[in-house]
Amino acid sequence: MAKPDIAAAAVAELPEGSRHDFRHDLSPDAPELENYREGDGAFGYAHSYETGSHLDGPGVRVTLFLTGCPLRCKYCHNPDTWHLKDGMRYPLERVVTRLGHFAPALRAMQGGLTISGGEPLVQAAFSRRIFAAAKSLGLHTALDTSGFLEERATDEYLKSVDLVLLDIKSWDPETYRRVTKQDVAPTLRFAERLAAMGKAVWIRYVLVPGLTDDPANIEGVARFVAPMKNVEWVEVLPFHQLGAFKWKALGLEYELADTPPASADLVSRVLGQFRDAGCNVR
Ligand code: SF4
Repeated sequence: MAKPDIAAAAVAELPEGSRHDFRHDLSPDAPELENYREGDGAFGYAHSYETGSHLDGPGVRVTLFLTGCPLRCKYCHNPDTWHLKDGMRYPLERVVTRLGHFAPALRAMQGGLTISGGEPLVQAAFSRRIFAAAKSLGLHTALDTSGFLEERATDEYLKSVDLVLLDIKSWDPETYRRVTKQDVAPTLRFAERLAAMGKAVWIRYVLVPGLTDDPANIEGVARFVAPMKNVEWVEVLPFHQLGAFKWKALGLEYELADTPPASADLVSRVLGQFRDAGCNVR
């Protein structure tokens, strides 16, 4: 089969859609993460973008989903963003032009730009330049991250980020590894760094019955986060099965196929644990 023309792909429009759309293998020639040398961020790999999001920061937002992620969360609802090749190779200039079209509406709706993924820090140069451009358009900016690549979010990078949506997937290191196949330490280090610099943070905790619902584990996250004055909210995100079809379509083994959604009682117990520790929850 003939290989797709990367230059042609670079000028195609990035599809507007939703985080629940299935797209993958849009740039089959893209390197794997371990071989990726990003350069100056004039190009990057993007999966899609969503408009009108109320979920990813204050106001109404455009959320841009970049590809590439070093984690392998058992509950990931976007496994079609794990590899750079899952996204379209796209020039920074085009992202910025497109963002400029949305900017007046986003400003009027007290919203802004959120970069999510995948893990946006895989493409730190690309995402940093998009954030900087968003700031020059007068937009609020939010980085949605696991924090695993925290050393790439330099102080310079964070100058263009108003809010960090930080996923703490577990307090207990063993559970964190079971959930993500990686270490929790960088995430916690990042949280402490953000607290020391007073950067606004919303903590996100994905609540999966039988996996991340252990009271002691939640207590650990709650006690860690509660003293941090920069943490505005803790958001408890109940596990759902909306991404299950993607695992199947990609031929991946999905261990949570029989896991039920988090019940209202469980969500309420966990919200109570965070609240009792002194966190603002929702
Ligand atoms: S960090 Fe996010 S994109 Fe990466 S595997 Fe986990 S849930 Fe999926």
